[in-house]
Amino acid sequence: MQKLLHNLNPEQLAAVTLPAQSALILAGAGSGKTRVLTTRIAWLIQTGQVSPSGILAVTFTNKAAKEMQARLSAMLPINTRGMWIGTFHGLCNRLLRAHYRDAALPQTFQILDSQDQLSAIKRLLKANNIDDEKYPPRNLMYFINSAKDQGLRAHEVDAYDDFNRKFVQLYELYDQQCQREGVVDFAELLLRTYELLSRNQPLREHYQARFSHILVDEFQDTNDLQYKWLKIMAGKHSAVFAVGDDDQSIYAFRGANVGNMMAFEREFQVQNLIKLEQNYRSHGHILDSANTLIANNSKRLGKNLRTDAGHGEQLRVQEASSDLQEAQWIIEETKSLIAEGAARSEIAVLYRSNAQSRVIEHALFSAGIPYRVYGGQRFFERAEIKHAIAYLQLMDNPHNDSAFLRVVNFPTRGIGARSLEQLQDAARQYGISLYAAVPYVAGKAGSSLGAFIKLIEGTRFETQNLPLQEMVQVVLDASGLLPHYRNEKEGADRIENLEQLVSAAMLFVSEEGFGIDAPALVGPPAQAVAGAAVTTGDGVEIIDADAPLATIMSPLSAFLSHASLEAGDNQAQAGQDALQLMTVHSAKGLEFDAVFITGLEEGLFPHENSQQEQGGIEEERRLMYVAITRAKKRLYLSFSQTRMLHGQTRYNMKSRFFDELPDEALKWLSPRVQQHHWSAHTAKAAWVDAPQAGANAIAQKISSKGIGWKIGESVSHQKFGEGVIVNIEGGGGNPRAHINFGRHGMKLLDLGVAKLEKV
Ligand code: ATP
Ligand code: MG
Repeated sequence: MQKLLHNLNPEQLAAVTLPAQSALILAGAGSGKTRVLTTRIAWLIQTGQVSPSGILAVTFTNKAAKEMQARLSAMLPINTRGMWIGTFHGLCNRLLRAHYRDAALPQTFQILDSQDQLSAIKRLLKANNIDDEKYPPRNLMYFINSAKDQGLRAHEVDAYDDFNRKFVQLYELYDQQCQREGVVDFAELLLRTYELLSRNQPLREHYQARFSHILVDEFQDTNDLQYKWLKIMAGKHSAVFAVGDDDQSIYAFRGANVGNMMAFEREFQVQNLIKLEQNYRSHGHILDSANTLIANNSKRLGKNLRTDAGHGEQLRVQEASSDLQEAQWIIEETKSLIAEGAARSEIAVLYRSNAQSRVIEHALFSAGIPYRVYGGQRFFERAEIKHAIAYLQLMDNPHNDSAFLRVVNFPTRGIGARSLEQLQDAARQYGISLYAAVPYVAGKAGSSLGAFIKLIEGTRFETQNLPLQEMVQVVLDASGLLPHYRNEKEGADRIENLEQLVSAAMLFVSEEGFGIDAPALVGPPAQAVAGAAVTTGDGVEIIDADAPLATIMSPLSAFLSHASLEAGDNQAQAGQDALQLMTVHSAKGLEFDAVFITGLEEGLFPHENSQQEQGGIEEERRLMYVAITRAKKRLYLSFSQTRMLHGQTRYNMKSRFFDELPDEALKWLSPRVQQHHWSAHTAKAAWVDAPQAGANAIAQKISSKGIGWKIGESVSHQKFGEGVIVNIEGGGGNPRAHINFGRHGMKLLDLGVAKLEKV
């Protein structure tokens, strides 16, 4: 016990050893919240206050859950595999698998990732002849998800105009479609579980009694539904231990509600509100920068952070002329870090948007520096992997229409749009899945579709007794995917990825505790499930979703859920010492010796969308706070004057966040080129069409001098107010200028005509 607790400061110790009541730990980044939470679990178990099965711990990512399990195993001689530590989605998946009947789901229900969800919605619109310009699928998806995130079904949504009423109606139809196909989206996982528990009293009471301790990390990012979910799980008697940091709330766009912290304090009668103020992660300059920056936010619960670590090095700031040069600079700095002995995996490159990673990846690749990208185009989202997964999904649940449509004619087997229309008509007519509708299609279309069904059934039969990894291998061949890519000119990478899918399956099977030889398709062994059955006081038998995944679903079902939920990281690459690339959002909770925050430009970070939204800039600032506080020893900040993004060249001004950092903490590496004297606060990022922009921006800087106006100059216009010249074209003859008028956006004005004044 001593050993467990001796590495804690007094406030941390107090938090870890609180009595079994609900508690809120509110503390800044790097103050040991996650460590406290993990240690508390270990302490509760070690002191015999609870058995491992009485703990429910919610983390934000699968990675965090794995880390927590690993740390626990290191602290205690227990097997953490069967423990309920996971993300909201992962835990719900497990519950729904165990209680699929009560939840009115097929045993082999499948999970739609956001890409699948969007295509399901597009399909729905098409099937109902809805104009997708008038009702854009993305907006509908957002509408549905945010309703679900608030715990609302279609009939519970208040529709205030015709447009909304249409959306509500489509939401209803969407749910029906999903139900018919046996698929659930991410938000549905939670909502279904919530509804299951609200409806089913014995089940609810069973879990409430079982989980006497519920612990939640990153509590500031819970949304309304997650909060309701926690409440129903906790019931009256469980002790909920929540840790969070209001300054790190960065998921408002997904419905996260910081107000949950206040609600929690009130509704769970929190007696113990503990603040941790000692930061153990970052050197002084880094921490000072984070503190100074976040002080610009007005809505805060208020906490401080201090460190004993000393100032350490200043933050290094680089102004690059282009994104290519920025990437090059990252390479140079990385090389010298590595030369100083840094491990590559202790260096992270962060960016605001996934699209920024391409240039950096390219540079790293050319420089031969191994790297790993988290998020972004994730492994399971690559087209070839999606295809393979679709075949596997059809083995498990042939009524998944999304999967069916994805591969029915891939590789091509002569099933054209017309045949599919016939099929869709039949499916609609009988209210059944496409797969089930095939026998109703006659003629040539019918026979080629029939051949596809034969292929799926045949492969299913052939692989039913094979272990998962062999099944995947057979499916890759039998489906024609491997042969298809072998014939493709650029197919080598795709084949490699498909082969990695086999390794991923193998790794998954061994990590999740499925016998490596267990047949992939067959469900859990009957006695294992029966062993977990409990009888409640009312004599109702409940199969407890207690046991590891291996006992409540087949290896194939489990692997498919994993592919949708984890979406991620190509585990086959794990363990390699590689540079870490990710968005700021996905860096939450992590820490690295050295961190690069790139693309610190107005319009990019803070993101331009945030400028219109209420509280948008404050959320971006919290995001910046998260980014800064990932660094332990070294922090690099960079911005670039020009950047190619989404096929356009942007002319950028440095982020306003630079003005919010303490001068003494910053070390400017590049000579501060042209100290722009306009205020970043009034200006918006500049978007210019690529061809125009390509037109020698740099050359213009020189030639434009002749006409009395300079790039970078502040001007004022009668109608648009103050702006900044970001580019001039047409040199001597008919000079025109791109002027960024901040709120009014970018204008192209004829300098001979427009009445501009210098300011
Ligand atoms: P974040 O808000 O970023 O999630 P956090 O509050 O969860 O941060 P942790 O990740 O738990 O912080 O801890 C930050 C670092 O400080 C970790 O490396 C952790 O091991 C270390 N640490 C925490 N408490 C102590 C302590 N008492 N003594 C030494 N190191 C500590
Ligand atoms: Mg943490």
